[in-house]
Amino acid sequence: MPLTGIEIFKLLPKSNCGKCGTPTCLAFAMQLAAGKAELAACPTVSEETKAKLSEASAPPIRQLVIGTGARALKVGGETVLYRHEKRFENPTGLAILISDTMSDAEIDSRIDKLNKFQYERVGLNLRPEMAAIKSNSGQADKFAGVVSRVKQKSDCSIALMSTNADVLAAGLQACADRKPLLYAATKDNVDKVASMAKTANCPVAAKAASLEELVQLTDALGKAGIKDIVIDSGARTVRKAFDEQIFIRKSALNKMRSVGFPTIVFPCEMTDDPMKEALIASMFIAKYAGIVVLSDIQGHAIFPMLVERLNIFTDPQKPLATKEGIYEIGGPNENSPVLITSNFSLTYFIVSGEIENSKVPTYLLIKDTEGLSVMTAWAAGKFVADAIAPFVKKSGIDAKVKHRTLIIPGYAAQESGGLEEELPGWKIVVGPREASHIPAFLKMWKP
Ligand code: SF4
Repeated sequence: MPLTGIEIFKLLPKSNCGKCGTPTCLAFAMQLAAGKAELAACPTVSEETKAKLSEASAPPIRQLVIGTGARALKVGGETVLYRHEKRFENPTGLAILISDTMSDAEIDSRIDKLNKFQYERVGLNLRPEMAAIKSNSGQADKFAGVVSRVKQKSDCSIALMSTNADVLAAGLQACADRKPLLYAATKDNVDKVASMAKTANCPVAAKAASLEELVQLTDALGKAGIKDIVIDSGARTVRKAFDEQIFIRKSALNKMRSVGFPTIVFPCEMTDDPMKEALIASMFIAKYAGIVVLSDIQGHAIFPMLVERLNIFTDPQKPLATKEGIYEIGGPNENSPVLITSNFSLTYFIVSGEIENSKVPTYLLIKDTEGLSVMTAWAAGKFVADAIAPFVKKSGIDAKVKHRTLIIPGYAAQESGGLEEELPGWKIVVGPREASHIPAFLKMWKP
């Protein structure tokens, strides 16, 4: 059972040094018990105490990593039922199904989609992460061959799917260094799968026919020393799967450790209609899948899913912000216009979209305003001449263009005089107040 705040407090150094960011050890203990702080924030706690407290500080849904490198998939780590209570932590992983009975051309086409379908939004790269490679043939060699093919052609994370432990072992041998998810341990093969997962240090998916059976399976895996578990309750109808996702999340938050793991859900096995499948998948992105497995990836379906996921897994208490810097839109050159705006993501989204619409290659400078929009940032003193000028100077834009004209948002017109003083040699032009007027403005612009 997790420790209470007072129990945690008894184990802390009690020096009230404040290095953890809270004024007292008691306050820190309470934060830790509520899952709102990390034990690592206290630099003076002993290793022995760390071990004792690890259970108390662990999230109710275990966080684990599938795969290696840049496309490793981190899932779980969730601490709340509703996003507004705190935030959802790790975005649902999106996987595409690849069967070992598909032709080489079909397999390559799916790998290609997994590699190529990626979208740049608000400075982030949105893309599906995982290949779920399924053995339909039941042949170990054939399965291993497909796994090797995927491994060779993509750096995606991998789930190996078979309930035959020998087939699974062949697939694992082909990609053990990529730390795949072994799907699945069942009541019939749990010992064998647990043993190979332990040897290869890989996460395991537990698949059961009911929630009761699932609890027995995760307990058995736990006793075998497997901590990184993904769970599949076995439901393959939308209603049952939806109900069980909610039940699992609520139970995990109520400290039922046997279901305190990220889930895997299969919209690909719930319908044959691609559009329905996309709708079902989007529902499970919101509630509460750790991984969603899709039968295929189509641009018109995966893009809205990725944007939905982005929105659900952002912190509702922090404005979505774009990274400060120079954004090149449409291949600008030394004569291209230079615009500047705030780093509120919606502002960036709208302004960059209108610049794209104009078809005028442009440099867009994004100033860090802590995610505030132009007017709010201006009122807060974060988008004023004193703040903008140092950023423009250090941004390196003067090396990219021959002219010295900076176009500022119409809502920051008051700063034009101050900027001309702060940026000697630069001409400050006041641009449109509304982003929708940017295309017409840029088409008229001359260096
Ligand atoms: Fe207490 Fe550690 Fe925080 Fe210092 S850093 S106040 S010792 S919990």
